Amino acid sequence: MYDYLIIGGGIVGLATARELLRRQPGARAALLEKEAELNAHQTGHNSGVIHAGVYYPPGSMKAMFCTAGNAATRALCDAHGIAYRIPGKLLVATNAAELAGLKELWTRIGENGLQREWLDADALKEREPNVRGVAAIHVSSSGIVDYRAVGAALAREFEQAGGEILCNRAVTGLQEYASEIVVETGHESLHAHRLVACAGLMADRVVAMLGIEPDFRICPFRGEYYRLAASRTDIVSHLIYPVPDPAMPFLGVHLTPMIDGSITVGPNAVLALRREGYTKFDISLRDTAAMLTFPGIRRMLRGHIRPGLAELKNSLSKRGYLAQVNRYCPALTLNDLEAHPAGVRAQAVTRDGTLVGDFLFTETPRSLHVCNAPSPAATSAMPIAEHIVDRLEANA
Ligand SMILES: Cc1cc2nc3c(=O)[nH]c(=O)nc-3n(C[C@H](O)[C@H](O)[C@H](O)COP(=O)(O)OP(=O)(O)OC[C@H]3O[C@@H](n4cnc5c(N)ncnc54)[C@H](O)[C@@H]3O)c2cc1C
Repeated sequence: MYDYLIIGGGIVGLATARELLRRQPGARAALLEKEAELNAHQTGHNSGVIHAGVYYPPGSMKAMFCTAGNAATRALCDAHGIAYRIPGKLLVATNAAELAGLKELWTRIGENGLQREWLDADALKEREPNVRGVAAIHVSSSGIVDYRAVGAALAREFEQAGGEILCNRAVTGLQEYASEIVVETGHESLHAHRLVACAGLMADRVVAMLGIEPDFRICPFRGEYYRLAASRTDIVSHLIYPVPDPAMPFLGVHLTPMIDGSITVGPNAVLALRREGYTKFDISLRDTAAMLTFPGIRRMLRGHIRPGLAELKNSLSKRGYLAQVNRYCPALTLNDLEAHPAGVRAQAVTRDGTLVGDFLFTETPRSLHVCNAPSPAATSAMPIAEHIVDRLEANA
């Protein structure tokens, strides 16, 4: 009999597992991951940005956990000798409409208590000679790291505290009783007092295993990247972001120096027809049907037809993709863009068609489910874990 079982060996599950044994040393806990290795999905396919907490409504979980997570991620990296850098980020407006958006971001960054610096066009050019814009905001606390390394460090701490990590364990069934929760994996039936599910792209399916009809569905959005040719990795020294389109819940194609010295361009956000499908032609009838039969996703798609088609067009046309970057970095050419693996974001959509903005959790007496943990959840994983354990303890 376990005290805790955790589903999902991504950064949120690993941080939660570690936090449980930090608070309750000696508790019997195991983490179940369906893949052969940890961090195989979102945690291993992202931009590697330690976000500062720029965009999120003040007081939201995203705003609070991101700022705390920025510091916690750096501290964990220091403790484990994991490479990270804090190059800072520039948000760049390229025209008058974006300038209005940039001014709104300026206010929000201040409300979120972050250091910020306004740069006019000349100051921007001085800071980043290859970037053009009418104005920019510099945020100094944005950094970069490899989240696989962060996840691996969390896993080590969990195991050192006596936790078990079981890979190749796809959870296929759950039964909740008054006295315990039973977890079926195909290999075995495991028994626990409490369950925490951090299943990312499968979050709604794990909720449904309890016989509950989830009031949201995961909508997968593929984020496609290019990588700059090695000869172009000196083109920028900061993370360079456009002003996000308010119609989209994503940040827009950005230039991101990575911790391995490369620079990625992206990601875009294209509706994925397979939840764990990393190429354009990866299609699952089951996943597509699950999306299109949920009224909320149909409603959301209808409401985002124009930006959705624009993303699709730029996904199919490298030239269109490049044009988005050329708006603020005109020196880049088609030859500079090399192939780079994509990631798939798990985005919860409610029955009324809302793209859930904040982190979202749901509970039953013996289980807690992370239902929406998109970006900046890698940055925020440790504060999310603290929040989860607080809730479990409050419900004990
Ligand atoms: C393209 C992209 C760019 C991003 N950029 C950033 C960024 O720069 N900074 C940032 O902070 N965040 C970023 N994010 C978001 C961040 O990567 C995710 O929010 C975070 O990794 C979520 O972690 P997770 O543990 O919830 O999910 P995941 O990492 O997806 O882990 C979930 C795990 O659950 C497992 N699982 C699912 N179902 C079962 C089952 N039935 N049985 C057993 N195991 C199961 C899966 O195999 C998976 O390993 C980005 C995401 C994407 C996709």
